[in-house]
Amino acid sequence: MTISSMRGANAMQVLEQSVVVFSQNYLPLCRINIKRAIVLLLTDKAQPLGFTTEGGWRVHSPSLVIDVPKHIRLTVTSNERMWKVPPVNRREVLRRDHHTCQYCGGGKHLTLDHVMPRSRGGSHTWDNLVTACEKCNSRKGDVWRQAASRLRTLFEAGMQLRTKPKAPIHPAISFAEQFWIDMQGSLE
Ligand SMILES: [Zn+2]
Repeated sequence: MTISSMRGANAMQVLEQSVVVFSQNYLPLCRINIKRAIVLLLTDKAQPLGFTTEGGWRVHSPSLVIDVPKHIRLTVTSNERMWKVPPVNRREVLRRDHHTCQYCGGGKHLTLDHVMPRSRGGSHTWDNLVTACEKCNSRKGDVWRQAASRLRTLFEAGMQLRTKPKAPIHPAISFAEQFWIDMQGSLE
């Protein structure tokens, strides 16, 4: 299919748009590009979902015209793939922390930091591991070595975690949470 025109925008701009897919049970699942949405609509695997009145796109091909809304709902049961909490390793922790140091927000020379050091009995678990840049990691080590009241001194040294570390949650659940936050924001 070629997208030849649409209201107020050129075909290239339309192709960059995305559509939110809901499950049969009306749970927001993910975002897909408009091409995939068109395929789902044309094969009756999804139908328009009238969630809001605004938006959507009219797409023309040589043989048909199709209205693509911003939200579609699957008409088939989605085969939710089995999802497990990922293993605790460098790659997964960096991914969870969006490849940013959880102390300064930097993105270079990243390492893994045990919030409570292993030497103090800290565990190698999701809630005790964060991404830290080399600088923050060694600075934290210094503060920790020198200070008597460690956690308090880390706080005084301005070394606070930006987020409380925890295990990743199911991608569809985190997508749904963010979706409803965004929707609330757009209604206010
Ligand atoms: Zn840092």
